[in-house]
Amino acid sequence: MEKATRHQIKEQNRNLVLKTIFERSDISRAEIARVTRLTRTTVSDIVSDLLDERLVKEVGTGSSLGGKSPILLDIAADSRYLIGLDLARNKFSGAIVNLRGQICAFVSRPIKECNREAALQTTCEIIDHLIGPGLPTHQPLVGIGIGAPGLINSKDGVVINAVNLDWVNLPLGKLLEERYHLPVCLLNDCQAAAMGEYIYAADLSEARNMVVVRVGHGIGAGIIINGQIFQGDGGSAGEIGHIVVTTDQTLSCRCGNVGCLETLASANALVQRAELAVMRIPPYPQPTALAKHAGSITLELIEQAFAEGDALAQEIVLEAGRYLGIALANLISTLNIHKIILIGDMACFGQPWLAAIQETMSQATLGRLAQETSVQIGDLKDNDVILGVSALMASNYSLLFQKQ
Ligand SMILES: [Zn+2]
Repeated sequence: MEKATRHQIKEQNRNLVLKTIFERSDISRAEIARVTRLTRTTVSDIVSDLLDERLVKEVGTGSSLGGKSPILLDIAADSRYLIGLDLARNKFSGAIVNLRGQICAFVSRPIKECNREAALQTTCEIIDHLIGPGLPTHQPLVGIGIGAPGLINSKDGVVINAVNLDWVNLPLGKLLEERYHLPVCLLNDCQAAAMGEYIYAADLSEARNMVVVRVGHGIGAGIIINGQIFQGDGGSAGEIGHIVVTTDQTLSCRCGNVGCLETLASANALVQRAELAVMRIPPYPQPTALAKHAGSITLELIEQAFAEGDALAQEIVLEAGRYLGIALANLISTLNIHKIILIGDMACFGQPWLAAIQETMSQATLGRLAQETSVQIGDLKDNDVILGVSALMASNYSLLFQKQ
């Protein structure tokens, strides 16, 4: 019993030292001891184990305060690799990522048929392709992280319901662990994207709490509290796409309800709004470039028209932004989190869209709450889900050790 406890403490200390080196990079043994409050001898012993494991490397010397210059340590970014997958709705993509989130290999496949088996097969094809035949180029691989749309039970690795992929109660984590003999971490895509933005794009010293809202085909949020993903009791915290924001009974949502945020503020909703506007009688009162594309309007066409100042595109994009602003006002009134990051396809409408969101958000909540809150567009573009799941895997430090 005593032995087990000692082993646990040793592992905890080792993970703490590794975490400190991860977060601070170019840090001396003395500085690690100061930050972690471990003794210098303990830190030296752990660092020597980490050097043996090749997880950490010496990267030069720091400035001396008298005496010998301290040797600085950093994570050996290419000492371990992870696979990250983004099972987005119309395209699956995957990458091999090193410990610093650099993408070393990338593959993507369009999703045409949306049935359970085809989606599962495409997932495996992507992993097979990344690992490659024979000995993998990037090794050792220590785990697979997956961001999937829909309702996810992360603890058990089960996709409870991903309507578009026809996955219901699919034990994806277990299936892939058995096939690849690697630990698998499964997360909702918005939650994964939030983790990616938090770890790789945000200034960690500035915010420990953050909400990342993905506004694309659907809408969802990832909530980070004190540096951790908040999943809620049922795993679906942040499903803001289905908050009802209008009493308009004509707007039916794929969830079965009417008037959901997704039916007004998502990329899909925007395309539908444009189609309805160009087909209606009497016609839209101002000339619009979208009219000649009736029946085949895409988000890209709206983006182009919007950039050219097209009246219809301007009207519907800003209206979508205003509805999103109402939902964000609810979110900040509930959570009082000061930092909101917007990502996803709709972010292509940039500053004017953001301004519409901010304006309504300010009107729909207490002035002080809105003033304290910064809303901005994210940095990672298309890789946030892949980077987020990889970061989450990498922060499970125990996975990174070859010798236990
Ligand atoms: Zn809905």
